[in-house]
Amino acid sequence: MSENLKLIGGEFLVKEIAPKDVFSLEDLSEEQMMIKDMCRDFINAEINPALNDLDNHKEGLLRQKLDKAGEYGLLGAGLPEEYGGMDLDFISTMLVADNLGAGHSFSVAFSAHTGIGTLPLLYYGNKEQKDKYLPLLATGEYTAAYCLTEPDAGSDANAGRTKAVLSEDGKHYIINGQKMWITNGGIADLLTVFAKIDNDRILSAFLIEANSEGITLNPEENKMGIKGSSTRQIFFNDVKVPVENLLGKRGEGFRIALNILHVGRVKLGASVIGGARVALNNSVNYSNERKQFGKHISSFGAIQHKLAQQAINLYGIESAVYRASGDINKLAEENITKGMEKASAEIDAISKYAIEAAILKVFGSEALDFIVDEAVQIYGGMGFSAESPVDRSYRDSRINRIFEGTNEINRMVIIDTLLKFIKRGDYDIFGIGNNIINNINNITIEKGNDDFFNKNIAQIKNLKNASILTLTSVHNELNRKLGFEQEIMMSISDMIINIYVAESMLLRAKKIEELKGKEFAEPYKKMTDVFIYEASKTIRNKAFDAINSFANDNKFNDLLNAITKLVKIPQTNIKEYRRDIAKRLIEENKYCF
Ligand SMILES: Cc1cc2nc3c(=O)[nH]c(=O)nc-3n(C[C@H](O)[C@H](O)[C@H](O)COP(=O)(O)OP(=O)(O)OC[C@H]3O[C@@H](n4cnc5c(N)ncnc54)[C@H](O)[C@@H]3O)c2cc1C
Repeated sequence: MSENLKLIGGEFLVKEIAPKDVFSLEDLSEEQMMIKDMCRDFINAEINPALNDLDNHKEGLLRQKLDKAGEYGLLGAGLPEEYGGMDLDFISTMLVADNLGAGHSFSVAFSAHTGIGTLPLLYYGNKEQKDKYLPLLATGEYTAAYCLTEPDAGSDANAGRTKAVLSEDGKHYIINGQKMWITNGGIADLLTVFAKIDNDRILSAFLIEANSEGITLNPEENKMGIKGSSTRQIFFNDVKVPVENLLGKRGEGFRIALNILHVGRVKLGASVIGGARVALNNSVNYSNERKQFGKHISSFGAIQHKLAQQAINLYGIESAVYRASGDINKLAEENITKGMEKASAEIDAISKYAIEAAILKVFGSEALDFIVDEAVQIYGGMGFSAESPVDRSYRDSRINRIFEGTNEINRMVIIDTLLKFIKRGDYDIFGIGNNIINNINNITIEKGNDDFFNKNIAQIKNLKNASILTLTSVHNELNRKLGFEQEIMMSISDMIINIYVAESMLLRAKKIEELKGKEFAEPYKKMTDVFIYEASKTIRNKAFDAINSFANDNKFNDLLNAITKLVKIPQTNIKEYRRDIAKRLIEENKYCF
């Protein structure tokens, strides 16, 4: 990576970025390749043969598989060596999440344990707390869960009513309340529980041993998917928690909860990659086997369209997740050189990339839903059979749009955080936007030449300017009232999500061309071209939707004309490109990019 490019979260909208500045799968080190192979071996040897038994909640099996992951060192992947961990960097922990993401319900249990379950302690615990619990969590001797949601506090997490009151002798907090939808609830030993002390308005966080007196559980939830994971309601009835188990400071719980969710969102983006590879590989295999009208169905254009589009989406998530992980890693390393210890350096970096984290969560979960849905369609009637592998993929995918903050909440997080960073002076998006508005009848359009990279960089610059123009115009008109116009926020979010993913794919394709030559890069360039074509259509529609929702008569036409000029739909033979991409998949009989 270049020495001098210092990106901050959300800055991609206004900064030009070179391929060498972004991390991609092509940059994996030898050690990272070994980690990837180890994760794939683990899934093949330990999880795939056990998927049915896991989904049927075979007694003790989930715990056993987590213990096995502990033996492989995977539970402590991101933990410091002094606590029995592998001390891997942020990118490598996302690589683990990606490759274990192929493990269906197991991957949900794994992510809840190593992510939202363990990270509050790693990032906010004091030395005594870490010494006591992290070694147990690294081996799997203890399993972790994160208890934020309550019956009346879901998206509005700070509305939780679970209470903590200091005991008369000042040695314990007495906890009363109820948590629901707790992943690993039935197998957890250590709970991170968010509760309000006395009449505080803001949550605090507590480390609570699950075998404490006064804790009871409801039976397992009967879920649509991820059936093999444990999801329970947990009740706290006068549970005594030693005061030294307060995590962070009093009233810091909500900040902890939100920052942990930022990590969870990047991790979710990574783990959907593994799930998407499984569904796409099954789709290609099946379409190469199934014959209708005397031919393999993979020879039909309609099926090739689907296979190619699945691959394009998968290539998109991969490109965006590893780019953001690389940026977070880079900032964490900078923080370490400034004297921060690794855990603080990492959580500080992640919180600065909250916009990208939300983008990965929304795009990743929706891309996976698209991929599994098309997998079912490619299987035809067999796709509707509970005996087919895509049945599990389809059911397991759906939760990703709901947990770690629903996609509606995350779309709003993108705009809220961007506005916060703009207000803080991180970058002058409104300056750029007002400049475009002041020259609205004579706006600058980036042209580019015929070269793939040059042409698309220009296109993306125009797309960025379209999003900046829309956001600035809306903000000029509505200012603080924008928060009440969620439909407009969602439209602008969709513009930004598409821009980030499109640019990530482009930078990666260019990097692949530089590293491996023109011929090798051809399918990556075609996937990028098709995505940019589709993204341009989406961005134009979303800009029109936003403008139609707020602009008054005298601004309306100028804005629509400006968007029409900025967002040209590129001339791309999408049919031929998709066929070429599908041809490679069909020949290799797997996702080969
Ligand atoms: C299988 C599973 C596992 C889970 N694991 C955990 C866990 O381990 N720990 C944990 O703490 N929680 C967990 N959750 C809870 C999960 O995070 C919540 O379900 C999620 O945050 C949404 O909350 P809710 O279900 O109360 O929905 P609600 O908040 O009631 O939302 C319902 C709908 O309203 C929308 N909505 C809500 N507020 C707004 C708003 N302000 N503006 C616009 N739209 C809005 C939502 O987007 C959604 O579409 C899990 C849930 C499930 C289903």
